[in-house]
Formats: sequence, structure tokens, C-alpha cells
Amino acid sequence: MNPAVRIDPETGLKIFNTRAAKASEKITGKGYSVVADQKLTELPKMPAGATFNAEEQAKYRAFKEARRGAADYMAMEGAFKKYLDDVYSEPPIPREALDDECEILVVGAGFGGLLLWQKLSEAGFTNVRFCEKGGDVGGTWYWNRYPGIACDVESYSYLPLLDETGYVPSMKFASGFEILEHCQRMAERFGFYDHCLFHTTVEATTWDEASGRWIVQTDRGDKMRARFVILANGILTTPKLARIPGMAKFRGESFHTSRWNYNIDLSGKRVGIIGTGATAVQAIPELAKVVGQLYVFQRTPSSIDVRDQRATTEEERTTWAKEPGWARSRRARFAKISEVRAAVLANDDYLAGKIQDFKERKKHDRELTREELMQKQLDSSFRLMEQIRARVDAIIKDPKTAAALKPYYPYGCKRPTFHDEYLPTFNLPHVHLVDTAPRGVSEINERGVVHEGVEYPLDVLIYATGFQWMGTSTFNRIRGRSGRTLTEKWETEGTRTFLGLHTRGFPNMFIVTGPQGGGGSFNFTDVIYAHADYLIWMMQTMRERGASVVDVRKEPEDKYAEHCRDVDIATAPLRDCISYYNGEGKAAPGSLAYYGGRQWDKFRMEAQSSLEPYVFGGA
Ligand code: NAP
Repeated sequence: MNPAVRIDPETGLKIFNTRAAKASEKITGKGYSVVADQKLTELPKMPAGATFNAEEQAKYRAFKEARRGAADYMAMEGAFKKYLDDVYSEPPIPREALDDECEILVVGAGFGGLLLWQKLSEAGFTNVRFCEKGGDVGGTWYWNRYPGIACDVESYSYLPLLDETGYVPSMKFASGFEILEHCQRMAERFGFYDHCLFHTTVEATTWDEASGRWIVQTDRGDKMRARFVILANGILTTPKLARIPGMAKFRGESFHTSRWNYNIDLSGKRVGIIGTGATAVQAIPELAKVVGQLYVFQRTPSSIDVRDQRATTEEERTTWAKEPGWARSRRARFAKISEVRAAVLANDDYLAGKIQDFKERKKHDRELTREELMQKQLDSSFRLMEQIRARVDAIIKDPKTAAALKPYYPYGCKRPTFHDEYLPTFNLPHVHLVDTAPRGVSEINERGVVHEGVEYPLDVLIYATGFQWMGTSTFNRIRGRSGRTLTEKWETEGTRTFLGLHTRGFPNMFIVTGPQGGGGSFNFTDVIYAHADYLIWMMQTMRERGASVVDVRKEPEDKYAEHCRDVDIATAPLRDCISYYNGEGKAAPGSLAYYGGRQWDKFRMEAQSSLEPYVFGGA
């Protein structure tokens, strides 16, 4: 077996062998099943003429206000640090600490890291090193392996490098396990493993002005120098726990969904799950198939849209085998979809290029004003939510349970979810919805969860309580030119980036899919592609100009931050609820996700043609 670190005699660069073995064969699963019952795969008809009138607006407002301030989360620290342990891999491969230099150091080996490597190496940048906290590639798909996991963007547009690897996903919405395997396929195909330090967490990244290098320190004792640092460590990376009094007392087994403990046999057990976001919606139907009793502690219901899963057809396989670049073309068509629901339904005929448009577009006699357009969008969001609520009534037998499962907020202001088995699960006699609205679970004791004086004794408690959005602990640990950390800069000045990729005072550092990151698509993979292409352009431009350092000027950064703020404010009524998307109602407008759609491309293209936002330096 090769040593963990060796030197390539041809290039003189280090080659790594640090991929950890899988911890247990029990770690397997599947995603969405194909559901044959048509009643479950179609929404009830849209109520004609229903509008988002004053009465309905008041109802939405009350639903929102009742939850204001209820969200209280905590990091997994101290006694809760154990929830972060890597349960998927064997212990880290021992290796020497590194005290050397590379040209580009990338944090993260998920979709971002994998795609960057393929593109960078193709463009001739090979002195690249990756640091990854996990024991293997995959990022989100490495950590999240709960039963039922699958992608919600159709897999033919979502999985990167399908053309290049010749792989065709087995289902329209591939399981997380299949996606993880695809990540491993991409890594093997393009030689990624040789460049990655697994089980290596970056702990400090400090700019050294004198040498024009970043000094990168890790939890493995490394102190490496890098000309460029690229943060590709994701947007929902750091898991969080709801802060609930008494949680440390619980004597049963417990874990967070992003570290699913397959060593705990759930069959026949009394299992509780806190949270009903996208993760829980996928996990609950699978849990119900094995546990003895299932208690679902819900604060806010998700919108449960139809999934209509299907297998990839033989016709598709044959057609795509003869069509080089089919996945690229499909992703490009997907990126043109400008409505959330149309994107998630992913019309096959349109995406396959068989039809030019997937819906009839109404022509208006005159252009609508901004206000009229907003009202129109709110009305159609309302009608769709009415269909989603009607679906709950059509499926759920118990009226009290049905009432609790109905969401009252605009479509998409919390992450929309999709499932054809989730709602029917609540008709099963051993599945109990515990409605903790509007403030959530407020007590846990030695035996289980207590709500409104009722104790729910549990053998296992699962936290489906999500992740920090658009923030990773990495931001706290990067010190730029002024000696301030990135978090300190953004806390004092407000989030300020150029295109989400650069931030002034942090030269040669790029953030992939971070705050203000844009890219204008509902498919995050598309955003990663856009960012990777931009970074290749930047590296090549610097090479051509003989520049070794790039920073951005204050004015374009301020202008871009203002743009992010303006589009967030202008579109805010469409996302009017308490959600992690808006920092539980507390985030400054424009500081998190980007809502300007394709305007990001406009900013990018202008910058690339004028080069005006950049300050290049060094030789
Ligand atoms: P999440 O959406 O943040 O959900 C956290 C859940 O915990 C919410 O339902 C929240 O309720 C609940 N909660 C928090 N404190 C509580 C308390 N004290 N009592 C009761 N409930 C409490 O997290 P997630 O489900 O892990 O999903 C995170 C994101 O990951 C998704 O939105 C999505 O972007 C991504 N994801 C994607 C997929 C996919 O592509 N298929 C699948 C899973 C996850 P409130 O709503 O009231 O705050």
C-alpha cells in the first residue's frame, strides 16, 4: 500500500493517500420509491380565482408572528461535540504534518472541490491541494446519509460531470447514496484522491503580506503556505441543535441527522424526531417502516409537494448515449427556468429539448407595474399553497393532524419539500404527530420529550434541526490584510463581497457558493459551475498579466452589496415567513442568499470585460 504522503518523481509534487475506509457495511440506504397511486403523485386542482386577500394575508401574518423569536439554536460544542463525530469512516490515516507550499489550496471535497479539480487540472493548474474534514469525498452527500435521502433537483441536471464520466443516474431523483458513489466516481476518474488530505480540518488561515501567501493551519498539525485559497466548503455545512432545556439529561441514544448512527438498531424502538424540514420529510417515511412507535415533534409544517419519482427510461439511456454533451445542454435549459415550482417539477420534454417552453405564457395588454407583478406572484403562490393544503386534507384521515400539517406562508419562503409517502405515513397507527406549534419542543428529560405536561418516553431521539445557513466556522478563522477575521469584517461593515466570490482585504481568497454568491439558478450545481468557470478565468487572467495577487476595490464591492440588499428587499414579500433563509427573521437584507437571478451574470461580465473592480499586484 502506498504511504499517506509521497513525492511524484515526475512533477516533484506531493501525492496523498489519505482516503479512509467505510466504517461499516450497515451504512446503506435508498431515496424515494416510485409511488404507483396516482392520487398521491398529483396535487388537487388549483382553486379558480382564489386570491391572497386581506383575510388570508392576516392569517399568514399571524402564523409568522406566533413563531417570531421561537428559533433558538446552538453549536455542537462541549457535551454536544460528540454529535459531530465522523460515524461513516474508519479513523484517520496517520500521516506526517505538512510544512510546505502549494499554489492553490481548496477547502472541501464536495461538489465544489470535485468540479474545481476537474476544471483546474484541465486548464493546467495541477499544484492544487484539498483539505476535507470527512474521510472521503462527497461533502453534503458524505455527511448526510439518513434513510430516504435523495436530491430534490432532478438528478440529470444536478449531478456534475455526467458527460465526462458517461454516467446516467438510475432515477429522476437519485438517492444520496447514489450521489455519494458518483462523487467517488468523479474523484477516481480525475485523480482527485491523490490531491486530497482527508480527515483534515482547516483551523486557521492567515494572510502573510510579506510573502504574498496564505498560511493554512489544520487540526493535523499542518502549516502549509498557499498562493490561493478557495473555500468550497458549502452552504449548509455546520450542523446545529435546537437549544432545549434538559437535552443533556436524556439517557437514551441520540444523534443529529447529518451523522446518522447505523449502529443503533431502530427496529421496534420508540423513536422521536425533532424537526420537520426537508431532512425529516425524507427520513420519516423510511423510519416509520422500521420503528415500533414514531413521535414526530413539529413546530412548523413544511409544504409537501408531489414528487412523482421515476426510473430513468431505456429510451433516455439510448438517446443520451448517442448525444455527447446531453447533460450540459439539459443543465443549461434547466438554468433558464425562472420559477421555483417549474424548476422543481422539471418538465422532461422541455429539458430534453423536445419543446421550447413548458407552459403557456399569458400576454398582458401592458407591462405590469412592480406592485401588480408582486401581487400576481403572491396570488399564484397562494393558489399553489391552497393546493398543497388541499392535498393534506385529501390524504390525512384525522382532522386534527391534518390541520397541524397545513403550512401558512408563501411557497418557497421555507424550503419547499416533495414526497408522495410522507403524508400517508401519518395515517399509520404507530406514527404520532406531536404539534409543538408555535414555540417548539421546550423540555427534554432523562426519559424523553415533554410537551404541554405530556411525557413522550423514547429509546432514541433524532435531531433533524438543520444547519447554519451561508456561514461556516471557517469564516471565523480567516485573517486577511487588516488582521481582522472575515466574520469580524462582515459584522462591522455588513456582508460585503464582490460577486460573492471576492471580499476586499482578503486577497487571493475566493468563496464558492457563499453569501451573495448568485449564479441565478435553482440548481446549486449550476452555481458551482459558474463559480468554477469564473475562477479558472481569474487564474488565467492573472497568469497572462503576470499578476500574483488580486484584491477588489471598495467601490464595486459596496455597489454589489447595495445591489444584493435592494433585490432582497424588493422580493422579500415572496419570502415572508420565519426561515433559516432569512436568519430566522433577523438577517440584514442582502447578507445571505442572493436573489438577483441573472443580474449576477451582468455584474460578472462587466467586471470581466473592464477589469475595473480588481486590483492586481505582485510579479
Ligand atoms: P431545517 O430545514 O433547518 O429544519 C429544522 C427543523 O427543526 C425545522 O422544522 C424547525 O422548525 C425544527 N425545530 C427547530 N427547533 C425546534 C424545536 N425546539 N422544536 C421543534 N422543532 C424545532 O433542516 P433540514 O431539514 O436538515 O434541512 C436543511 C436544508 O438541507 C434543507 O432546507 C435543504 O436545503 C437541505 N436538504 C436538502 C435535501 C434535498 O435536496 N433533498 C434534503 C434534506 C436537506 P421551524 O421550521 O419552526 O423553525
